[in-house]
Amino acid sequence: ARGTEVMALRALGKSYGGVRAVHDVDLTLATGEILGLIGPNGAGKTTLVNMVTGVTVPTGGSGTVLGIELAAKTRAHQLARAGIARTFQQIKLFNRLSALDNVLVGGYRISRNTMLRRLVFLPSARRFEREAAAVASAQLIRVGLGDKATTAAGDLSYGDQRRLEIARALASHPTLLVLDEPAAGMNHVEAERLSELIRSLAADGVAVLIIEHNVRMMLALCDRITVLNFGEVIAAGTPDEVARDPRVLEAYLGAE
Ligand code: ATP
Repeated sequence: ARGTEVMALRALGKSYGGVRAVHDVDLTLATGEILGLIGPNGAGKTTLVNMVTGVTVPTGGSGTVLGIELAAKTRAHQLARAGIARTFQQIKLFNRLSALDNVLVGGYRISRNTMLRRLVFLPSARRFEREAAAVASAQLIRVGLGDKATTAAGDLSYGDQRRLEIARALASHPTLLVLDEPAAGMNHVEAERLSELIRSLAADGVAVLIIEHNVRMMLALCDRITVLNFGEVIAAGTPDEVARDPRVLEAYLGAE
């Protein structure tokens, strides 16, 4: 059964001067669903995700994400507060802070309002800190880093750093989780573990939008896949449908 719709894009587009980075993209995503975005380098995936997360303003079409209209006045923090969380292509951790503190930083940043409210009503700020730490450790356990809470982020393996980023994103309890190349640089075993984690998040009702170059992983993981090439959707459907599409094969085999 399809969940509640969290994202609907209609003919969404972004041009930079004469360059159409993204053109006429229609997309929907519901809770509990894993939607993959694939396409050769420069296809427009990052630009699309930047629009969805409020980082880039669209120049064409329309879109609603978590009830918020994508418009010139829409800010990334509004979407974050509405329930969107994101990881980036480049790992962005505080290397000298422990894994737990990295998650706490993510939670604090996004739920500042909640924190302020709690600080006012709770007799002690320390109790709040203990609760926040409990939530953060739960996220670490969730991503399989329960035993690495005190390890400095910079000392974690590459795959663990990627999972820590996801734990940090989860600290805000997102409805929509956007993952930008989460398996980049991972070996097969790490990528498989990551897929399992993403599946379990979706099973809990999180809507997942994922960009990934590892096509084999995407075919096995996603409920639906949209393929971009030169900013346009060239195929969209189930992994089976997309894998059989001649335009997709051409885009991938034709690329150097
Ligand atoms: P990759 O897989 O390499 O990350 P991508 O699919 O994410 O690529 P984008 O980064 O979205 O692709 O880029 C799409 C197109 O838009 C490219 O031709 C790129 O050069 C162009 N583009 C992206 N951002 C800008 C910008 N700020 N100014 C001008 N052109 C841009």
